[in-house]
Amino acid sequence: MDDQPIITKFTPKKPQGLIVVITGNGKGKTTSAMGMALRGCGHGLKTTIVQFMKGDLYSGEWDGVKMLEPLVKLYHTGKGFCGIEGNPYAHSEHRKNAQEAIQLITRILSADDCDTLILDEINNALQLKLVDLDQVKNIISSRPAHMHLVLTGRDAHPEIIELADTVSEVREIKHAYRKEIEPQPGIDF
Ligand code: ATP
Ligand code: MG
Repeated sequence: MDDQPIITKFTPKKPQGLIVVITGNGKGKTTSAMGMALRGCGHGLKTTIVQFMKGDLYSGEWDGVKMLEPLVKLYHTGKGFCGIEGNPYAHSEHRKNAQEAIQLITRILSADDCDTLILDEINNALQLKLVDLDQVKNIISSRPAHMHLVLTGRDAHPEIIELADTVSEVREIKHAYRKEIEPQPGIDF
């Protein structure tokens, strides 16, 4: 039909890997990162996702990304949120798991086999001292120049915010849990 718009696709003159931080106390940080993985698929870009502190509670993206294979890979690591009521694991055990995740990330960086690397909940992991500031700064500085890095989670460290190119703070205006509405599949997990 001749009333259809002409579709153009922007190509950056200088492609470069960006550091994106999604932080804040509102809902939408992890799902925003998943959105970048989905969007990347449309460009044939490969995304690797490493989730910290996510081993105990099923979330839809674990299987959802399998529908985006082979472009998207997800590793969920850890034993749930450190320090949250009902989580029985000691800080030392959470730290050990997070340190294993850092080793995994180091291998991913040296293999240089993705265009976008999403480090989900790494901001919280840093705030909870499961990983060290120098380790996160080292990931940022040692990544291949073309690779985008997306760091999610509450309480992003000021030095990481300083190093980032794009930073968004998701602010809670309302959340259904405050009305004692249970988490709903697809929306909350
Ligand atoms: P999402 O994964 O939905 O994008 P998020 O990454 O911004 O959310 P997190 O702080 O990682 O938010 O929380 C994970 C999930 O738990 C979210 O889906 C959110 O709806 C839900 N949630 C956040 N805070 C609470 C809370 N205090 N009680 C219950 N559920 C919560
Ligand atoms: Mg999250």
